[in-house]
Amino acid sequence: MAETATARPAALVTGGGRGIGRAISLALAAAGFDICINYAGNAAAAEQTAADCAALGVKAVTRQADVSDPAACQALVEGAAADLGRLDVLVNNAGVTADKLMLRMEEADFDKVISANLKGAFFCCKAACKLMMRQRYGRIVNISSVVGLHGNAGQANYAASKAGLIGLTKSLAKEYAARGVTVNAVAPGFIATDMTDAMTDAAKTASLAAIPAGRVGRPEEVAAAVAFLASPAAAYVTGQVLCVDGGMGM
Ligand code: NAP
Repeated sequence: MAETATARPAALVTGGGRGIGRAISLALAAAGFDICINYAGNAAAAEQTAADCAALGVKAVTRQADVSDPAACQALVEGAAADLGRLDVLVNNAGVTADKLMLRMEEADFDKVISANLKGAFFCCKAACKLMMRQRYGRIVNISSVVGLHGNAGQANYAASKAGLIGLTKSLAKEYAARGVTVNAVAPGFIATDMTDAMTDAAKTASLAAIPAGRVGRPEEVAAAVAFLASPAAAYVTGQVLCVDGGMGM
């Protein structure tokens, strides 16, 4: 845990130690947020990201929690608020894949992805919304995917989880808009991280061919969109899905 003393707005980023989550943590730290970085198993990456955030002059803490576990999510949100003294922003970024064509996809593959990507966001939103409603201010950003809007062969479980996140986002946006809590989604396209590194060369080539911008995206490009939606400047934006995909989903 790396930290400095303060009283600043505070954010929790699930899966905030690596990849897109790391870039989001750093972007929010650069914008002046104290940060709680959640991780599932990679403590070293989370600690490194916390140290890099703290170097920007904010308080940064780490918390292990498997977002598939409702009790762990409740403890994570409450713990983050206790660590940082408040909670203004929740970014549901943690995500996994278990890609297979549907006929080979087992119930366990489906459940694993839905539990982490969709139910995890639901559990964290539920815990965070209680705090945000009380303070009549909050920003929730759910990391969906272009695949949630358009589908993808071999990713029925993942696409369902990411489409589900969009339904969750719009429903919560309607429920909590009057309480000063906005809920939006960011839908990245093909971004260079460990997750996409694991794709086959054929899948990478096919994805690249579908991007009008002609290149993969950088985690920082997703983080910039999240930082806007997490800011006070985005007060009148809610229930939206912002695609950061080089035109892939047009
Ligand atoms: P990544 O490099 O594989 O990182 C995944 C992150 O999620 C890690 O920090 C991991 O924690 C965390 N995580 C996984 N399961 C978790 C669980 N059960 N509880 C808590 N944390 C968990 O993935 P990424 O590419 O950065 O993706 C981040 C998000 O963007 C995901 O929701 C993904 O679906 C979405 N997305 C990515 C792309 C892309 O092209 N990369 C495109 C669209 C959407 P540990 O570090 O502890 O393992």
